[in-house]
Amino acid sequence: MELKDVSKRYGGTVALDAVDLDVGQGETVAVLGPNGAGKTTLLSIALGLLDPGSGAVRVFGRTPVEALHAGGVGVLLQDSGLLEDARVAELVAAVAGMYPRPLPVEAAMRAAGVAELATRRVGRLSGGQQQRVRFALALVGDPKLLVLDEPTVGLDVESRRALWQEVRARTAQGSTVIFATHYLTEADDYADRVVLLAGGKIIADGPVNTIKSLV
Ligand code: ADP
Ligand code: ADP
Repeated sequence: MELKDVSKRYGGTVALDAVDLDVGQGETVAVLGPNGAGKTTLLSIALGLLDPGSGAVRVFGRTPVEALHAGGVGVLLQDSGLLEDARVAELVAAVAGMYPRPLPVEAAMRAAGVAELATRRVGRLSGGQQQRVRFALALVGDPKLLVLDEPTVGLDVESRRALWQEVRARTAQGSTVIFATHYLTEADDYADRVVLLAGGKIIADGPVNTIKSLV
């Protein structure tokens, strides 16, 4: 994934300011920064869900939207809407149908810890359970790139552990993972590279131990 000189404004607010970022295959990158730093904006632009005001974005050498349509990218966004009346297995199956080579629905549900919720209606689940459904939707396309915006928000300790274990299993198979977090410990434990954002600028980019003194 390659961002070149990407900037984004909302009215008078500069959300991203001349960001350059190159993520290679197999890397696990944490985008770290306080609220309002620009993390969600950066990930949304990388996914093609938001147009950059200026600059260039490529994912697997294509536009982000092409990469998404080719099935190479799995996405978990904060508070993304879920079809509340659908049952969990129906929703996972529907999203699987949008990918060229999905995982079996049962496998994706198991990987995200929602297999036992398969017949429950999404709108009746707790916040943490819905977050695990979002993770199942991110996994079901068997993507080469996983983009996760604060994936552990609302999860209990055991669910967090299980989510990161699954992320590690995917990176062990060569997948690339980019996740946003405002917890240094998550970056420390699960990323091999940290991109530190503040005020829309990348103020540090490197292995976790080189970043620690800055936060
Ligand atoms: P983070 O994910 O790090 O919390 P965001 O990317 O959500 O940061 O936000 C970056 C900046 O852009 C913040 O100042 C935020 O208030 C602003 N912003 C984000 N989305 C919008 C929007 N839709 N309209 C106006 N300002 C926005
Ligand atoms: P959590 O601490 O995981 O967020 P909650 O207190 O939200 O848990 O929910 C506890 C249990 O109640 C969960 O099993 C959840 O599925 C169930 N539950 C929560 N909200 C609803 C609802 N609106 N209808 C039915 N069951 C619900």
